[in-house]
Amino acid sequence: MNKYLLILCILNHFLSFIISQNLDEDELSDDIVILHVNDVHCGINDTIGYDGFVLYREEMKKKYKNVICVDVGDHIQGGAIGTISNGISIINIMNEVGFDVATLGNHEFDYGIEQLQNLEKNMTCGYICANFCYKKNKTQIFDPYKIINKGGKKIAFIGILTPLTFSKTYLAHLKDENGDPIYDFFTDNNTQELYDKIQNFIDKLKNEEKVDYVILMTHMGMNVESYTSNYLLSKIEGVSAILDGHTHVIYNQTSKDKNNNDIYISQTGSKLEAIGKLILKKDGTISSEIITEIPEPDDKTMSKEVFRKNKNRWVDINMNNYINSIWDEYDEELNIVYGHLNFDLNVKNELCRRQECALGNLITDAIKKFGNGEISFINGGGIRNSMKKGNLTRAQIIDILPWFNNIVIKKLTGKCILDALEFGVAKLPNPAGAFLQVSGITYDVDESIKSSVLIDSVGMFINVTGERRVSNVKINGVDLDLNKLYNVSLIEFIGEGGDGFSMFTKFDVFNEALITDTDALSAFIGELLEIPEKYKDLQGRINFIKKKKEPEPEPETQPQSPSSSSLTIILIISIIIVIIIILILIFIFRGRICSKVDSRNIDTNKEIDINPSSPLIS
Ligand SMILES: [Zn+2]
Repeated sequence: MNKYLLILCILNHFLSFIISQNLDEDELSDDIVILHVNDVHCGINDTIGYDGFVLYREEMKKKYKNVICVDVGDHIQGGAIGTISNGISIINIMNEVGFDVATLGNHEFDYGIEQLQNLEKNMTCGYICANFCYKKNKTQIFDPYKIINKGGKKIAFIGILTPLTFSKTYLAHLKDENGDPIYDFFTDNNTQELYDKIQNFIDKLKNEEKVDYVILMTHMGMNVESYTSNYLLSKIEGVSAILDGHTHVIYNQTSKDKNNNDIYISQTGSKLEAIGKLILKKDGTISSEIITEIPEPDDKTMSKEVFRKNKNRWVDINMNNYINSIWDEYDEELNIVYGHLNFDLNVKNELCRRQECALGNLITDAIKKFGNGEISFINGGGIRNSMKKGNLTRAQIIDILPWFNNIVIKKLTGKCILDALEFGVAKLPNPAGAFLQVSGITYDVDESIKSSVLIDSVGMFINVTGERRVSNVKINGVDLDLNKLYNVSLIEFIGEGGDGFSMFTKFDVFNEALITDTDALSAFIGELLEIPEKYKDLQGRINFIKKKKEPEPEPETQPQSPSSSSLTIILIISIIIVIIIILILIFIFRGRICSKVDSRNIDTNKEIDINPSSPLIS
């Protein structure tokens, strides 16, 4: 009897479970939720973290039937885990999260094109990119788009990568047997080529595939340089929403398409500081918001609180365990201590991309020493993180210089060095990755002079056409000689033209230092043990000046013209003088007339006889 009761009881529980599941399912919203992130840059658990992202996704699944997870590029580079695993550990984490669709960022090329293709094979959802193609036949290297069926709707995602990737990676220097570049981003003719190509894809998806929504995943950013997501949108039609990336900014706004429709464009900053949430509603409308806090879940069986970036955050337990297991794999290597620092060397607010920065001085000194150069360079964009006071571990050094760039030595002319410095300051006062941090060099910059640097459509330096912003360049205290050859140690990335430094590519590598920038910095710190106080402050390597304007020569032919205000004063004074003179004259003449008239009146006491011969009017 007890046995039967037990079976009945289990059956009852099972049935009620099924009923409750069905009821829950019915109560779920039919709206389709798209959760999107961009530029995670290995920030696997810096802020919200992938474990916070998973928790939020699971919470959304309790309210919505259909949830899609999207990544808009730049995920495998930017931190120690990405670097030492060549991106593989990041792809493993993304697979564990369960992304449905992902596109490329410019930093997906950092470990080389072959490694990117390997990573793509390991990535469960694969990559989409509509404009990364072979130059010869213009065919895509990855699928251009992906269609996801959810809730009876067909949603198409198109991946688009900034064509400026050319100047920001080695791609421009990958040539075929004929010496032609191998890859292209549909930038052959003009910007219109890219817009036409994307419009063709949209039309095809709408007309042939009969999709309900077209969502662009643009690793481009808004309002920067030449290729932007909002500018692209203004040239095309048929887009439902844009999930943006590349510029590491948080925004959620609308912009006009070709037909003047308002379309959402959203970006979530970097390192998972926010999650984008686009909702395709049952009634056909679309809403968009940015999530910066993961709310405390009602049911806490699968979540826990962790302390990150000065606050408590809710994360998914399983995902948190998985991320910790990845950290454990590299624990020994990442915790090696090279030296110690008593103060912070901050690079916040893009400091190294717009002025001399103390960390840039330390790094370029390391590159100069281990590259055996008279001088050395690193691009400000190559310095990725601040150096925090305390023990300097391998993990921290890799976070600062994550690319393990080879140091090369080139013999460069003084003219080439001057052009490179001028190119570096061309975008000031705006920050730029190409701004050069230097060792063995001092120079002045006058940003009040309009930059006369000419660049091509993908940001490569062409020449300087007018007055220079850079002056007073000294190499180890001696004036720069434009014709002299100098031994310059620099990272291979800019040596091969990365970030637009085409002037360096005209000179062959004279020698290789056989050490990377990351290892040179580690070794330099290892020698110093304690970072000296001199690195705490700036050292006057890059000085901002405002040249005194030469007094303008006085025009020879034209007399000096008084200003409009002084003219007005002169005019008023003249009028007053004229009025006074007139009044005096009237007074004098009136006096005479009166005296004559009076005398006549006195004399005759008759009516005044005024005739033409009268002396009164003669
Ligand atoms: Zn990025």
